[in-house]
Amino acid sequence: MRNFFYRLSSAFRRFMTGRYGSDQLNMALLVVAIVCDILNVVFARRILFLGGLFSLISTVAIVFAIVRMLSRNISRRYEENQKFLKFWNQLKMLRHFHIYRCKNCHQKIRVPRKGGKRVEIRCPKCGQTFIRRI
Ligand SMILES: [Zn+2]
Repeated sequence: MRNFFYRLSSAFRRFMTGRYGSDQLNMALLVVAIVCDILNVVFARRILFLGGLFSLISTVAIVFAIVRMLSRNISRRYEENQKFLKFWNQLKMLRHFHIYRCKNCHQKIRVPRKGGKRVEIRCPKCGQTFIRRI
């Protein structure tokens, strides 16, 4: 029996050789699938359309994650993951900062959140000042 499991695991290892495997994007896809499955259970009885929609999103996310995991195009999958990580880091950053655009020169200005205080913001590019609640 132990021999069987050993052969099974080495067969799986051989199968996965040269394939991409898992990464942060795949983990995020699985989390999306699990959340959608939970929402599906919650909404399926109340609103049929929403339940079906969550079920569809969950299925698509899982299929996409499996296709990515078994893919042999490692550089392409790596690129996708890098794009996802960039997007994810921007999302995390938005929790701590506001992004404003200067009305004068359209420069993007990142300002730390201060819990609704009024603050004078000075554009670092053109020196224009404006007051915002951040
Ligand atoms: Zn400016």
